[in-house]
Amino acid sequence: MLVVMDKDATQAQIDAVVAKIESLGYVAQPIPGGERVAIGILRNPGPVDPALFLDMPGVTQAIPVSKPYKLVSREMKREDTVISFPGFKLGRGHFVVMAGPCAIESEFQALTIARLVKAAGAQFFRGGAFKPRTSPYSYQGLGKKGLEILKKVREETGLLIITEAVDQDSLKLVEQYADIIQIGTRNMQNYTLLRRAGHSGKPVLLKRGMYATLDEWLMAAEYIMSEGNHQVILCERGIRSFGEHARNLLDLAIIPAVRRESHLPIIVDPSHASGRRDLVPPLARAAVAAGCDGLLIEVHHEPEKALSDGAQSLYPDQFGQLMQDLKTLRPGKWF
Ligand code: PEP
Ligand code: MN
Repeated sequence: MLVVMDKDATQAQIDAVVAKIESLGYVAQPIPGGERVAIGILRNPGPVDPALFLDMPGVTQAIPVSKPYKLVSREMKREDTVISFPGFKLGRGHFVVMAGPCAIESEFQALTIARLVKAAGAQFFRGGAFKPRTSPYSYQGLGKKGLEILKKVREETGLLIITEAVDQDSLKLVEQYADIIQIGTRNMQNYTLLRRAGHSGKPVLLKRGMYATLDEWLMAAEYIMSEGNHQVILCERGIRSFGEHARNLLDLAIIPAVRRESHLPIIVDPSHASGRRDLVPPLARAAVAAGCDGLLIEVHHEPEKALSDGAQSLYPDQFGQLMQDLKTLRPGKWF
């Protein structure tokens, strides 16, 4: 249920609705944005009677929400969510590019790549300090030292930072350094981690689980939002399929499907979706044409020497070319 207040409802009237919701044993979540205040009712085991609210002063509507997810749904919030960063925005027509290596390997590597992607027009630098690798013997990242390198990249280039948290301990560190906390495909249904991210003050980029349906993905976002963090960005990164020509199957249909169901911004990662650098530029262009709000792309100055995901990392000049192509495909202001 969503209780929508009059445009000129007073704070006392809003507080009275919140108090009524709480007196019924439910949780009240005011929804930010829009010109009127709306209050979501959460944790109600069954339907709530709209009549309980309709005669309260300042209340204009009480709308039942039919979806299992509530805060993420368009029923709850009609206008697209926009997330603000120093200097630019993401969502509702504001497009951003996040680029960098799969993993932070050294200060030299990170700074070299960061300068190149910045020159090509990226707004965010990506790079894992904590790496969730398929093999325990593969490179696991530099941990806190990697975060210190990311801090230096931010200071020296002005690029904002997105980096992954793999568990609660790393999230505690990552939120101190990053502008966006990334939650990876393998952790999309790690509910304790999602709840913890819901207590962070930083935006969270939630990658789609490699086997997740749209509903499961949106429910994962709901975990974060239900703890109070409404700054969630969805990221499609390909799902498991039977083909061997690409690492995963990029599901472009999920972009308009997400738009229909949710107000949250959605970006696309063509690097993990394809696993092959020759497939990355066409998939990136297709994702932009399908209406995503941004891209997350792996770039390395020496991909053949990369400690992880070299085969899917673009050479800097390929990334530069792609950025030019995207500007043609998506003319006008970006962010
Ligand atoms: C990554 O972005 O480097 C990563 C590990 O991605 P995913 O969780 O999509 O595999
Ligand atoms: Mn990677």
